[in-house]
Amino acid sequence: MKIRIRPLAALLFGLALPAAAEPASPPGLAPERMASYARSHMVAAASPPAAEAGRAILRAGGSAIDAAIAVQMVLTLVEPQSSGIGGGAFLLHWQAAARELRTYDGRETAPAAATPDQFLGPDGRPLRFLDAVVGGLSVGVPGAVRMLEMAHRAHGRLPWADLFEPAIRLAEQGFPVSPRLAAALAGDRALRGDPAAAAYFYQPDGAPKPAGTMLSNPALAATLRTIAAEGADALHAGPIARDIVAAVAGAARPGRMTAADLAGYRARERDPVCVPYRVWRVCGMGAPSSGGIAIAQVLGMVERHDIASGGAGAPAAWHLLLEASRLAFADRDLYVADPDRVPLPAGLLDRGYLAERGRRIDAGRSGGRVPAGEPPGQRAALAPDRSLEVPSTSHMAIVDRDGNAVSMTTTIEGPFGAKLMVRGFLLNNELTDFSFVPEAGGRPVANRVEGGKRPRSSMSPTMVFDRDGRLVAVLGSPGGARIIGYTLKTLVAMLDWGLDPQRAVSLPNLLNRNGPTELEDLPGTAALAEALRARGHEVQPMTAPSGLQAIRVLADGLVGGADPRREGVAVGD
Ligand code: GLU
Repeated sequence: MKIRIRPLAALLFGLALPAAAEPASPPGLAPERMASYARSHMVAAASPPAAEAGRAILRAGGSAIDAAIAVQMVLTLVEPQSSGIGGGAFLLHWQAAARELRTYDGRETAPAAATPDQFLGPDGRPLRFLDAVVGGLSVGVPGAVRMLEMAHRAHGRLPWADLFEPAIRLAEQGFPVSPRLAAALAGDRALRGDPAAAAYFYQPDGAPKPAGTMLSNPALAATLRTIAAEGADALHAGPIARDIVAAVAGAARPGRMTAADLAGYRARERDPVCVPYRVWRVCGMGAPSSGGIAIAQVLGMVERHDIASGGAGAPAAWHLLLEASRLAFADRDLYVADPDRVPLPAGLLDRGYLAERGRRIDAGRSGGRVPAGEPPGQRAALAPDRSLEVPSTSHMAIVDRDGNAVSMTTTIEGPFGAKLMVRGFLLNNELTDFSFVPEAGGRPVANRVEGGKRPRSSMSPTMVFDRDGRLVAVLGSPGGARIIGYTLKTLVAMLDWGLDPQRAVSLPNLLNRNGPTELEDLPGTAALAEALRARGHEVQPMTAPSGLQAIRVLADGLVGGADPRREGVAVGD
């Protein structure tokens, strides 16, 4: 279903930037990293060759979705630890002329034969996370390519096959292993267990190929040629599909995926999740991602507070955001799952409900762990989910010359997914995003494994509009359940604190998932940590490899930011 963002009747002045003055020097990473500027179009993506491929498509007259497809195919090759054609994705698409936002769900599904207890050991206890990840049992039916095909039919301008050319060329000619890929290879214990992956990523003596090594991937080039020629059908039926099924069945911990599961996969168009926030309208992805809902809840809870005036370093503002995040995570853990299987409470974003939740926040003192609320329309008695998500994944933000935009977060779940390589690409381990524990205290966990179901995600591709319905910003990040906090920080930094996208992205990550307050371990954050401790927060240092990409749309051009914690860039013309 399509949702139109209607211009609101009220006309406001000076919406381009909020009134808040930018603080002289908010704490942040890599202050020397400057924002990118462009007049016509821009791509922000996790790797330079992928971003360049997207820009080449935009230069050739392609649309934002055309560029997104080229970026995804190159990422499959050059950032194989994070996303690819063996995984899933969520995509927001903005059609500028029609002023229409549509959201696409390419989330993986569990095979029909999956069972709620499949991640429990013989003793009835949850498997160790890595034991569940490696092998066939964690592999979901891939959805990214089907979703891209669906979105391309609606919004594409260049022929589908043309969008695969940059990746095919690079796969054949070779690309240098990036430092981040090299580090991921060196740190991985299980990928070597797959013969195809071992031969491709490691030396004959088992040492990881170092940064700078030229890698070519003729198997992937051939796969991409087939998908370019035949469409997503080539992945979901025929020889490639047969090889996926065989790899899943033949793995050490075999999965239950069948040819029928692959053939039956459907991408979905979902309703966007949009909420008013001050003078903006913030839109994200609905369930089965929990990201858009959680961000919308936090914004709804903090809207009546002054977040802006103290600027980016102000502990009072952070305190409110952290406490609101606790409340949002409590609801997320209990209620959010695949909406086709577990109906969401209708009132999760009800303004009265959020106001009431927000009133639980003590502006001076952390309340610690909080229970879920009782939103209007909630009937089923559920048990909370405590599934673990580890960071991999990739985000891209794209604006084309006509102002159309894509915000897409794409994943194979953990680093190198299930560690199974088929025809040059890796299979996801998305099913470990389900709750390993199917029930607690006689109550079902909403996000338990079930055949055909989509595991709950935290991915939060986001767009911001002004009150006239014009696009203001495009952003998102990888990072497991921390994605929600990373994206929220960047949003508030751009909207309330008036930071440009680069400074917003570079700001230290600080979040709460209804547990300790996690603060990125960076120089300059000690005073903030102290101030939060004084408010009762249990502050835990974290290394936080967010991979934020953000584009700010201004009247006369685009400003881009890419996360200095990873290898992303924002490039435009
Ligand atoms: N699989 C996770 C999700 O869908 C993302 C993992 C990550 O960002 O590393 O929420």
